[in-house]
Amino acid sequence: MSTWDAEVAVVGLGGWGACALWQIASRGVDALGIEQFHPGHGWGASHGGSRMFRITCLEHPELVPLARRSLELWHELADLSGTSLFENRGGLLIGPEDGRIVGGTLRAALHHGIPVEHMTPATLRERFGQHAELGPDDIAVWEPSAGILRPEDAVRAATQLARSAGARVVTGTRVHSVELVSGGVELETGGGLLRVRQAVMTIGSWLASLLPGLALTPLRMPITWFRPATGDSRFELDRFPVFMRELPGAEVLWGNGSEKEHGVKLGLEVHGRAPRPIDPDTDDRCVVSEDWAELTGVLGRYLPGLEPVPSQVSVCMLTTTPDGQFVIGRPGGDPRLILAGGCNGHGFKHASGIGELLADLVTHTPPPMPLDFVSPDRVALRCSMRDAGGEGLPACATAPDARVRASPPAR
Ligand SMILES: Cc1cc2nc3c(=O)[nH]c(=O)nc-3n(C[C@H](O)[C@H](O)[C@H](O)COP(=O)(O)OP(=O)(O)OC[C@H]3O[C@@H](n4cnc5c(N)ncnc54)[C@H](O)[C@@H]3O)c2cc1C
Repeated sequence: MSTWDAEVAVVGLGGWGACALWQIASRGVDALGIEQFHPGHGWGASHGGSRMFRITCLEHPELVPLARRSLELWHELADLSGTSLFENRGGLLIGPEDGRIVGGTLRAALHHGIPVEHMTPATLRERFGQHAELGPDDIAVWEPSAGILRPEDAVRAATQLARSAGARVVTGTRVHSVELVSGGVELETGGGLLRVRQAVMTIGSWLASLLPGLALTPLRMPITWFRPATGDSRFELDRFPVFMRELPGAEVLWGNGSEKEHGVKLGLEVHGRAPRPIDPDTDDRCVVSEDWAELTGVLGRYLPGLEPVPSQVSVCMLTTTPDGQFVIGRPGGDPRLILAGGCNGHGFKHASGIGELLADLVTHTPPPMPLDFVSPDRVALRCSMRDAGGEGLPACATAPDARVRASPPAR
């Protein structure tokens, strides 16, 4: 009789973990998903009703093929689950032509042959006049392949398909510790000890506290919804598509138009200043006026016509890495453990493709893209995990120069 509870445990069923469990179980692997809350909850990073999808990934050239593959998988997930998960409405990138957002988008489009449309300030004013106060160097890029993903529905659909493919799913159960043992991993949970051959840790902002020693910074990111003035239909989603707009000072305003009972969804990334690091367990999710003060400070200028106080606010968690790239892989090449996190605020669009990459790692299938730039070893400051297995495999390699300045998140 096997002494193992499962071949693979996927710990954390947010966007990345739910998609990983779906992909792993679909390959016939005996898989167990463990989630401390329930799939589709609002305490991590995968909630808020919408996420921007775009193929023009300005964050790294290797992410473009990942986004393309992710889109295929989002369609597959939607078809198999009978759920509408992606709305291909196009997306708008606004800012200086040589800036981070538009410059990066144009470079990605050129390099990878992604069809985009350039808009002069005059065209932008004509088509999307809601965006006021354009700077003298501002232009816009329209990406027809962009659109909106539905995070909560996607998490629930992937979890359900994983179950249908044979995965066991345990919710309301927290993993309190992870210990490497001979031939596998022991997970101490509220419901007892679980022994698995491989553990895939997709625990979002909790990765930094469960496995301390990684150069990861969890941050509090509020999402806010604002109502347009009564009778103003210019801000409805079909007329005000998902966008990112680089403002003077390199702040980035992002959001999408209003839907159903919700107002216009907006957020602001403030660059050049460290956002507030938090502990996802102790951070108070109640919202305070500081959560939207900076945004309301610029709103009247750049998007006039919205009420100055949000109608709804939600708090989201994200995790940054020193170089702004994800963390995906086996620390120190350890065959027992896979880490996946460090979303840097732009990881939902890739969740389905990352799920497939994680299934490749679990099944020792060569992944379709190089994973060096996302290697966990580059964020491993010191080895903090107990290895009772005595296999001499370092769970964390040491990268003393990993402490470089955190780069700002993007969408
Ligand atoms: C405000 C905001 C806006 C964003 N906008 C975009 C966007 O437009 N486009 C885009 O592509 N990306 C966007 N992102 C990033 C994207 O949302 C994240 O990359 C993605 O949701 C990360 O998913 P995850 O599964 O890694 O983390 P999470 O969704 O946080 O999932 C981690 C899961 O692990 C569980 N867990 C943690 N610890 C334990 C434990 N010990 N035991 C059991 N379970 C545990 C948690 O409960 C949680 O369910 C945005 C992020 C934020 C915060």
